[in-house]
Formats: sequence, structure tokens, C-alpha cells
Amino acid sequence: MKINVIGGGPAGLYFAILMKKASASHQITIYERNGPDDTFGWGVVFSGRTLANLRAADEVSHAEITREFEAWDNVDVVHRDAKVSIHGNSFSGIARLQLLKILQRRAEELDVKIEFHSEIQDVESLSQNCDLLLAADGVNSTVRSRYAEQFQPALDVRANRYIWYGTNQLFHGLTLTFRENSAGVFAAHSYKFSPTTSTFIVECDPQTWNNAQFEQMSPEKTLDYVAEVFAHDLNGHKLLSNNSKWINFLLVKNQNWFFDNVVLVGDALHTAHFSIGSGTKLAIEDAIALAESFQQITNVSEALTQFTQTRRPVIEDYQAAAFESMRWFENAASYMHLSALELAYVLMTRSGRVTHEDLKRRSPEIIHQYEQSVKNPR
Ligand SMILES: Cc1cc2nc3c(=O)[nH]c(=O)nc-3n(C[C@H](O)[C@H](O)[C@H](O)COP(=O)(O)OP(=O)(O)OC[C@H]3O[C@@H](n4cnc5c(N)ncnc54)[C@H](O)[C@@H]3O)c2cc1C
Repeated sequence: MKINVIGGGPAGLYFAILMKKASASHQITIYERNGPDDTFGWGVVFSGRTLANLRAADEVSHAEITREFEAWDNVDVVHRDAKVSIHGNSFSGIARLQLLKILQRRAEELDVKIEFHSEIQDVESLSQNCDLLLAADGVNSTVRSRYAEQFQPALDVRANRYIWYGTNQLFHGLTLTFRENSAGVFAAHSYKFSPTTSTFIVECDPQTWNNAQFEQMSPEKTLDYVAEVFAHDLNGHKLLSNNSKWINFLLVKNQNWFFDNVVLVGDALHTAHFSIGSGTKLAIEDAIALAESFQQITNVSEALTQFTQTRRPVIEDYQAAAFESMRWFENAASYMHLSALELAYVLMTRSGRVTHEDLKRRSPEIIHQYEQSVKNPR
């Protein structure tokens, strides 16, 4: 097969690797607008289950990825200077750039052609000269807008703003920190992804954002302002910017996942709020599911139909959980009267996927304290 891929992010690279592994005769070219060392953001997280999927799909890249990992099993909730740790959630963090470099090397080893600095505008001619065009071009997908009539996307710009910083303060575990000032409530999602660096994503609602007057603020002043809000948590460390800007989260869904020989994957196809940390996981697992369909079926249209049928229910389930989580963070201000323990409890059970019994198994002492506090309210 001749396969053109637009986008050398996790979805595009991983699909190319799996197809080449399945048959060296496939001719695969990835068109990526950035250079090999450019990236946005800092680290990404994977759950233990995702790692098992990665090992089953490609042991070589799995071994390299896990060599670079920072692993933990706790979610820490920090509120009013008190920290509550819930254990039993196995997660690992890796720098996004590190992940991409591993996947780039693996793809090139397998003879996938990667054309860096190639921004595709003319999607039409690229789709015509191949058997399959994979649109792995991310959340603002050019392919999705070019064929909006065919894909019927539903794009929902959410009201909360977030900004993705890094810091050398090390957060050992997924740490959710809530801080209030005269403008409103700020939530930080942070975790260590290398021996020296943590991701530090800050989110706030539109009232807080307006009250803080971020619209008029320079990037330097914004960084200072946010660092001041979280001064206690950063413990003297600076926030690090990677051209970081406030963004509104974009919820992406598509009525149709493919037409003719063009298929959407990863963020181009769907997004899930970063509070459940699984955008990269979903992108890579899309690639695994699509490559599996091509192993079973050679006809492009039939393989794409099977991909859609098997993958859509999984994605819908994830998006439903991520939606609940996103709504929780959009309403974070309404929970600020709770104690740290109560806040940790409602936060952990927010998407309905983790039950009281699950928490009791994972962190019996914390749940015991919580049960006592419910029996004997303050
Ligand atoms: C604040 C934030 C935090 C996140 N945290 C996590 C996390 O902790 N864990 C996690 O798993 N995920 C996280 N994600 C999500 C994750 O970044 C994405 O879900 C994931 O990168 C999707 O992979 P992708 O391959 O579909 O798209 P992308 O990684 O976006 O890759 C798309 C690629 O296509 C290229 N491209 C775009 N248009 C063109 C064009 N016209 N021509 C050529 N190339 C093009 C881009 O340069 C890019 O390299 C987070 C996202 C955000 C916004």
C-alpha cells in the first residue's frame, strides 16, 4: 500500500511504525510541518494499562519509552495548604519531545520517510496519489476543515482557559493544587516527567481570567502572576514557558470518521480533557486499532469501516468520562468550601468511574478518615 500521513505526532508516527512492521513493502511518507526537535508542551502521562498496550503493539519502542519514564502511583490533592494522597493509580510521565524522538527513530529505522518542515495545504492532491491518507494533524486539523462536509465535525470551545507551563519543582505524583486569590480560583495539574522537570498546567474559569485581566497582560507578566498564585507550591522554583499561552479547551467530535480513502485519527478525530490525561494514549491506541484492521482486511473502505465500528464505542466512553471531569473543573469554584479531604474525595469520584469501594481498596486510611468526617461533620 502507498500511505500518506499528515502529521508526525504520536498518532501518525505510531501508525506508520505498526504498518511498516506488518509489511515492509508498504510505502509510507509522513508530512510534518515542524522540525524533528520542535514541540509544544512538556510532559505527557500514560496509565499502566496503556503501557501494556504499547508493549503488545511494539516491544522495541515500548522498551525505550519505559527506560525514559518517571513512574508514580499517587494522586495528591492540595487545598488550603493541606495535602491528601490517594494511592493505587499507576501512572508514568515522559517528555513529549522524548516520546516523539523515540517514535521518529523507530519509524526511520523501519524505513518510513518523514518529511519535516512540510506543511500540507493541498490535501486533495496528497489523497489522490495514495491508497490511504491518514489525517493525524492534531486538534486544529486542516484535513478536517477541508472536508468538513464529509466528516461533519462538532467543535465545542469550552469557557475555561488553561496554560501549559513547566517547572523544575518536582511533583512526585499527579498533583492537583487549588489556590484562590481576589480574582478567583486557579487549579494546577502537575506531575514530574523527567528527573529535573514537571509539567504545570494551570486552569481557571472565565470570570477569574477576566478579573485577573490576563487579556491585557504580557507573557512575562502572566508567568509572574501565575507563579505568585502558586508561590507556596513552587517552593522558590520558576515557571518555565514554551511560548505558553492561555487557550480555551476545544472538544472535538466527528459524525463520520472517514470518507473515500481519508481517515481521521488522534486529536483531529476526538479530544478528551487533559484532566484525565489521555489524549496521547487515545491517539496511539487509535493507531493500534487502525493498524489491526488493516492486518485483517486489505480493502481500504472495509478496513476503515471496521476501525470505526470497533473504536467508536471506546472513544465515546472515554469522552463521556472526560466530559464529566472537564465539567468538574469548570465548576471548581463551587467546591472550594470543602476541606482538602472532602475535595479529594469528590475529585476522585468525579467521572463516576472510580467508586467509594475502589478508593477504599486503594487508600484505606484516607477513606477511613473521610468516613469518620462524614459521620462527625465539623
Ligand atoms: C494542556 C494539555 C495537556 C495535555 N496533557 C496530556 C497528558 O498528560 N497526557 C496525554 O496523553 N495527552 C495530553 N495532552 C493531549 C496530547 O497532547 C494530544 O492528545 C496528543 O498529542 C494527540 O496526538 P496527535 O498525534 O493526534 O496530534 P498532535 O500531537 O497534535 O500531532 C499533530 C502533528 O501534526 C502536525 N501538523 C498539523 N497540521 C499540519 C499540516 N497541515 N501539515 C503538516 N503537519 C501538520 C503538527 O505539527 C503536529 O506535529 C494534553 C494536551 C493539552 C492541550
